Amino acid sequence: MKRLLSLVLVVALVLSCAVLFTACGDKDVAKNEQSDNGAVENEQSEKKDNAVFKMGTNAAFPPYEYKEGEEFKGIDVEIATAIAKELGGKLEIVDMEFDSIITSVQKGEVDFGIAGMTVTDERKEEVDFTSSYATGVQVVIVPEGSDIATLDDLEGKKIGVQLGTTGDIYAKDDYGEDHVVSYSKGADAVIALKGGDVQAVIIDNEPAKAFVAENEGLKILETEYAIEDYAIAVAKDNSELLDDINDALEKLTEDGTIDEIIAKYIKAE
Ligand code: GLN
Repeated sequence: MKRLLSLVLVVALVLSCAVLFTACGDKDVAKNEQSDNGAVENEQSEKKDNAVFKMGTNAAFPPYEYKEGEEFKGIDVEIATAIAKELGGKLEIVDMEFDSIITSVQKGEVDFGIAGMTVTDERKEEVDFTSSYATGVQVVIVPEGSDIATLDDLEGKKIGVQLGTTGDIYAKDDYGEDHVVSYSKGADAVIALKGGDVQAVIIDNEPAKAFVAENEGLKILETEYAIEDYAIAVAKDNSELLDDINDALEKLTEDGTIDEIIAKYIKAE
């Protein structure tokens, strides 16, 4: 009887392991480990003693996070790599839609979210934020020759935004839901602008500059729409990681690493 019982136990154990394994293998998110020199290693090791820090991001937000071929690049990628190194581990990047990042942090699917993410009171109810490491500005992109010259001129127009971003939230508040079209990527909003589906795009200033540089016939309005702080999102019950990241950020700020990383991607005007 005892032997039968242990056999049943072993079978149950094997079965549950198999189920776990399949569930993990099913994830269709891009997972890559980024080594110190920025090379992607494509390892999937999740061993605890390896201290792998999973970063949730949306790699369609240049110059903060974007992909060049298979390689993840950008300010946030480098800052997160430096933080992981400070904490004695490696970084693994999990690329997802921007509006999934907070949920993913809450569920513990990633250790932290870094994605040019603005600190807002609503988000603070869902996650904790580290100290801010950069300033963001919401700006308006219009076609050259557009009759939109001020924020008031946006009234009654169709505005393209990136889904779930502060640009999306504020534009719906200020100009009405019917006047805002949300795209999953900022680049798609810009394509819609070029195609005439929307008359303006509200998005963060640095990606805006990158999109305008890549696309002829667009310009950024001089009037800024909103000024914001970017920070890293950590799960509410994870104050140890929050403190560790804050300590690392402080050190990396003091020794000039953060400024160096930002200067590499954002040229002073
Ligand atoms: N800063 C904006 C926000 O937090 C946009 C961020 C992004 O699209 N990656 O909502």
